[in-house]
Amino acid sequence: MFNRAHLPLAFEILYYCQKSMEYGLNFNTQGNISARIPGTDLVMVTPSDIEYDRMSATDMVIVDMDGAVHSGSHAPSSEIDVHLATYERRPDAQAIVHAEPVFANAFGVAGTPIAGSMVNMIIYTKGEVPIMPFQQSNSREFGEAMCDVMGDLNAVVWANHGILTVGPDLRTAFKTAVAVESAAKILWAAKAISSDLSLLSYDELGLDHAL
Ligand SMILES: [Zn+2]
Repeated sequence: MFNRAHLPLAFEILYYCQKSMEYGLNFNTQGNISARIPGTDLVMVTPSDIEYDRMSATDMVIVDMDGAVHSGSHAPSSEIDVHLATYERRPDAQAIVHAEPVFANAFGVAGTPIAGSMVNMIIYTKGEVPIMPFQQSNSREFGEAMCDVMGDLNAVVWANHGILTVGPDLRTAFKTAVAVESAAKILWAAKAISSDLSLLSYDELGLDHAL
């Protein structure tokens, strides 16, 4: 029986799963989303291998920080260990979005970080988005190596696979994913127009790093 107290968070995760399809961040059953359950050591995550438009809020799975299922009638996302490794390393992260959008992935295949083409992306990511070299992504080891690459940034590209973003809430983590894909698309187009690009760094924005 799904704990009714967890329904608002489950609906929020489902909402952003559906938005990820609408915005072209995911296709089929790609991607996954999780969020810490406030006041607990538990994480709610999307189930494995269910299409988002067939997913219900009550299909969400709750796991502890070791990945053991606390409640839920499905298996958690196959990348739950990456999410948990990230929560351990980033206490500031309250939510995680993994998606597999086309243009950010093109940068991953090229092994080229997504430079600061747009101010919107840089505000959310806090810098150019680095590339985590390809590895199978279903282990804590992958998650820890990915966190080394991501550092204090809020986004990273997994080469030949997708992107992962973190945020102080799910809405912000999702907006970061949208901003990364949008900036990647613009950067790709700008590179086709000119090799002399106008790029931004987070430091030159002069923002407080606590933003
Ligand atoms: Zn994936």
